[in-house]
Amino acid sequence: MTEDQVGRILSVHLPGVEGLCAGCRWWWARLSPYPCYQAEWAARWHARSATRRFLDGLR
Ligand SMILES: [Zn+2]
Repeated sequence: MTEDQVGRILSVHLPGVEGLCAGCRWWWARLSPYPCYQAEWAARWHARSATRRFLDGLR
């Protein structure tokens, strides 16, 4: 997974109507409550890579 792909996931999986994920509904016609699995995963990935960059900067 590249940062670009993760950014795309984050930009699609957004809160939609009635607390559902707009991206899941649009892409897969799936009704997932937001944050859905993809949004959570992408957010975690982002946090991890930011931490990694931070730690690399300290060395
Ligand atoms: Zn989603």
